Amino acid sequence: MDFYLGIDFGTSGARGMVVDQEASIQAQVRYPFQDSPAAVTPKIWQEALFMLVEQIPDQLRREIKAIAINGTSSTVLMVDSAGNPTDAPLLYNDARGSLVLDHLRSIAPPNHTVLSATSSLAKLLWMRQQPSFSEARYFLHQADWLAFLLHGQLGISDYHNALKLGYDVEELRYPEWLESLQIPIQLPKVLPPGTPIAELRPEIADKFGFRRDCLVCAGTTDSIAAFLASGAKLPGEAVSSLGSTLVLKLLSRTRQEDARYGIYSHRLGDLWLTGGASNTGGAVLKQFFTNAELESFSREIDASIASELDYYPLLKVGDRFPINDPNLPPRLSPRPDNPVEFLHGLLESIARIEARGYELLQQMGADKLSRVYTAGGGAANDTWTAIRARLMQVPVVASVYTEAAYGTALLAMGGGIKGEQE
Ligand code: ADP
Repeated sequence: MDFYLGIDFGTSGARGMVVDQEASIQAQVRYPFQDSPAAVTPKIWQEALFMLVEQIPDQLRREIKAIAINGTSSTVLMVDSAGNPTDAPLLYNDARGSLVLDHLRSIAPPNHTVLSATSSLAKLLWMRQQPSFSEARYFLHQADWLAFLLHGQLGISDYHNALKLGYDVEELRYPEWLESLQIPIQLPKVLPPGTPIAELRPEIADKFGFRRDCLVCAGTTDSIAAFLASGAKLPGEAVSSLGSTLVLKLLSRTRQEDARYGIYSHRLGDLWLTGGASNTGGAVLKQFFTNAELESFSREIDASIASELDYYPLLKVGDRFPINDPNLPPRLSPRPDNPVEFLHGLLESIARIEARGYELLQQMGADKLSRVYTAGGGAANDTWTAIRARLMQVPVVASVYTEAAYGTALLAMGGGIKGEQE
């Protein structure tokens, strides 16, 4: 029997999932970080990686045919010629890149995805100004470095991680404008996610009892891995994440980009994954209700009737998608005395924003919405699901799996993305 291992590095810990050829889960392992995200060093990532691997039962580990790793998007580091980090990594939300944005703006095309303080490219330009840069030979994403620990080859990435480095995922090459930045180190060679890179280093295979021919594949980012886990596969299928915020992802045959709305597309084989993120979502619900209240009050709502309350639930001023207005005020009044009515208004209003978001993506040319999978804390709310289905007029279902590690295991199996292995 062949098995496949997906490893997910998130902000609070690492997880691993082993699946069989039918994509059934055979083992799940976890390694929570003890420290706060900012205190987690590459050494701790490395420990986590090998602690995870050790937890996988021996008999499964012996039959793992391929491994893939997803990291947090835009968590990056510089390493020397032996692969040792030359400085602390910059985490996904580190905005020190804002100091180089003006320079970057003068070189990158207007509205490009790299023009954000947290983009990988902005981080690289900031790192270039640090003294430690003189020892650096390679710039890597978190997933690239962790995979290197397994296969031993430096300077390899995938086109999901490399999107925010400026890699042109349509032409499959670095764009010419990047050359004028004259970055004096090796940018990663970029492969389609899931592409086998090399066999495990023999000493790792022997130490942990893996097959010598176990392959390590190009990885992906955490949010794309979660999309792959959802079950969505066809153009028109989407995944909404109803967590603290609302994140939409729609699979399409065409690519959509519009920096004004924060919309950009990842490549998924011969398809595109278009996404947008609103500041509305569960964090606003949490301001007014406990999870127990959300459950009990939701059961009292008649989802077949539209609430007349027209809110724009936000924690603070401003949204980007589907309304691009940094001054957009939160709208949470009038507030009825009855908490069930108030919650109905909130759920209905967030669902309207979700529906408007998909409408906008379709207006921009994305495939017609046919089904919405759902992840995040709100996915368990059947009343909300019914309200959302009424507004969007398509089936709304829970994601089959929500764990990024599962999506990454599918990637290792080569079953994650249609057309990816061409
Ligand atoms: P995060 O984006 O922080 O990872 P989660 O996916 O864990 O968030 O979801 C947490 C959010 O889900 C909270 O903001 C909470 O308000 C919301 N939530 C929890 N239970 C329910 C429920 N029954 N109905 C709607 N929302 C819920």
